Amino acid sequence: MAASMEENRKYLTKLDSEIGDGDHGNNMRRGFAAALERLEGTSPSSPADVLKAVSMALIGKVGGAAGPLYGTAFLRAATVLSGDEVSPEDAASALEAALGGVKQRGKAEVGDKTIVDALTPAVEAAKEVAGSPEATVAAVFRAAAEAAAVGAESTVPLTARKGRASYLGERAQGHRDPGATSTQLLLDAAARSLE
Ligand code: ADP
Ligand code: MG
Ligand code: MG
Repeated sequence: MAASMEENRKYLTKLDSEIGDGDHGNNMRRGFAAALERLEGTSPSSPADVLKAVSMALIGKVGGAAGPLYGTAFLRAATVLSGDEVSPEDAASALEAALGGVKQRGKAEVGDKTIVDALTPAVEAAKEVAGSPEATVAAVFRAAAEAAAVGAESTVPLTARKGRASYLGERAQGHRDPGATSTQLLLDAAARSLE
């Protein structure tokens, strides 16, 4: 995820400069670089501890809307995991908990042109795949990433109802939401790391 945020910094910043303040790429890169540093320094002992460490780094190091939202997402994901093993069902539940955290914190719904537009279809796809007998965690994340890509694309024609882009009214139409796009990229990075 940190590598993807580094690679896509300019792209995310370009998207945010069209309908926001042009800092999303930098925010995400800074947050995930801090997460990596924190993980290297603390050697967490369980998947939940990894997610908690990432959450703390994101909340601590990313100003703006996305830091607290993603920080909450990782923290909530941590709460549904226990032990050392992550099953496909656990992975889907963690994504669902992450979405719950983002919605509770940001009060956005599908169609508001936010992270929620990518994460909601991702959770639906993840749950569907996790329920099948040959499910793997990689397949859960791959399905989530593909659904998030469609969800992020669906933000293009929308007017934003949350975040800075909402100040633009109809002028936000025709632009892809930066946060929905970073969600897609993060899920794709997770899937690739498992494949
Ligand atoms: P800021 O807008 O404070 O500069 P960022 O640029 O890092 O923060 O993040 C902007 C992204 O945050 C938006 O593209 C949108 O996807 C997401 N976002 C903003 N407000 C909300 C919200 N209330 N719920 C979910 N996502 C949101
Ligand atoms: Mg911004
Ligand atoms: Mg900002």
